[in-house]
Amino acid sequence: MTNFIDSPYVKEFSKITFRLYDHGWDERNGGNISYRLTEEEVSQYDDVHDVLRTIPIDFDGKELAGMFFLVTGTGRYFKNIIDFPERDSGLVRITEDGKSINILWGFNDGGKPTSEFPTHLMGHAARLKVDPNQRVIMHCHPTNLIALTFTFPLDEKELTRTLWKMQTESIVVFPDGIGIIPWMVPGNSKIGNVTSEKLKEFSSVIWPHHGIFASGTTIDEAYGLIETIEKAAEIYNIIRSTGGDILQLITDQQLTELAQAFGVTPKEGYLEV
Ligand SMILES: [Zn+2]
Repeated sequence: MTNFIDSPYVKEFSKITFRLYDHGWDERNGGNISYRLTEEEVSQYDDVHDVLRTIPIDFDGKELAGMFFLVTGTGRYFKNIIDFPERDSGLVRITEDGKSINILWGFNDGGKPTSEFPTHLMGHAARLKVDPNQRVIMHCHPTNLIALTFTFPLDEKELTRTLWKMQTESIVVFPDGIGIIPWMVPGNSKIGNVTSEKLKEFSSVIWPHHGIFASGTTIDEAYGLIETIEKAAEIYNIIRSTGGDILQLITDQQLTELAQAFGVTPKEGYLEV
């Protein structure tokens, strides 16, 4: 018998949620992740073929019908998933009419997916149009990035340009820039709609005074994107808090050279060269 709990997907998922917790980015029940798996990947396991429960979703998921997602549970703590993956996460499949999910594995104490699951599904749908290899939506509460949203204008171009200039790697990792939505109440399809609109244009979106939604083709890519943005925000905050004058900066010309060297295309209109 080959059990899903022993799969590399559950292992990777458990490991990354603990790492996110360990960074201090997922206190209490903060944060949520969804990880799209293919039918081939899922079908090799013996314990995922029965529908355990069916739950309606607050979203028309028709374009995602039949897709499988490994997702964190509502109210669950990222620090615990590594010890209780079958309780605090679950494998679901979107039903053919797009109105419900079938739970195939996990949530074994009666739990269900994160309250942000509609936002995740809308995000997957948006990113799949940009890149058919899209697999991961990751939400967490990176400390320095949240702090930055109090002291920095909530302007996508200005914020992106500033974080590009905080370290050489930034523009290589997020050449498409960072989207920002207005502050909104989380956990509903309204914020999901606004966020997914931004995800059509950006691979990551800031929720001011709350956190970030990032996407990727792998767990590592989404995690690396968040790490890099958070590191840039940390450097910005350190510079601000030390109160020193900025004597030199990476220039727009140097950013252009970087982008050329690494074969990435900076968001149009964001560099003044
Ligand atoms: Zn949150």
